[in-house]
This record gives sequence, C-alpha cells and structure tokens, in this order.
Amino acid sequence: MNIATTWKGCSTMIDLKPCPFCGSSHVYSRPYGERGDGKPWSAYYVHCDNCASDGPLVKVYDFGIPPEAGRNASINLWNGRAEPND
Ligand SMILES: [Zn+2]
Repeated sequence: MNIATTWKGCSTMIDLKPCPFCGSSHVYSRPYGERGDGKPWSAYYVHCDNCASDGPLVKVYDFGIPPEAGRNASINLWNGRAEPND
C-alpha cells in the first residue's frame, strides 16, 4: 500500500524518515483531536505503526497555522528526531 495515496487532498507530501526507535518505514502523520463539527484537526503527530512510537505533537491552533502546515510541521519534527546525529 502506498501511504501517499491514502491521504485525500494532500498537496505536499513530505518523505517520512524511518522510525528512529525500530527502523520501520511504516510511519505516517496522523491527525489528533476532534473534528465532529467541521473544524480542522487541532493537532498532528507522526506515528510508527510497527512499535507504536509517537513523534512530537504539533498543535495547529497554538501556532496559528493551517492544518496542512501543522501536518507538515509534525513530519519535519519527526524527521529531525530521526537524524542519526546532531
Ligand atoms: Zn518504530
């Protein structure tokens, strides 16, 4: 299954680095929060489907950024954390 095709309306797909904990490439950005009233997702984070590790949570409203940017930010944080050295 191609992860990119599971996202609807996704204009910019950032490549996710493998999980820094288990090395799995089964990682993806997830929305976090409620969306039952038409409001955007309140936060995003990257989740590893193999070891269930979670990346940093990006709260969209805290940053005053659109949901799409919040998702990308969560991916960038995950990728930064996955770097082998600093
Ligand atoms: Zn993992």
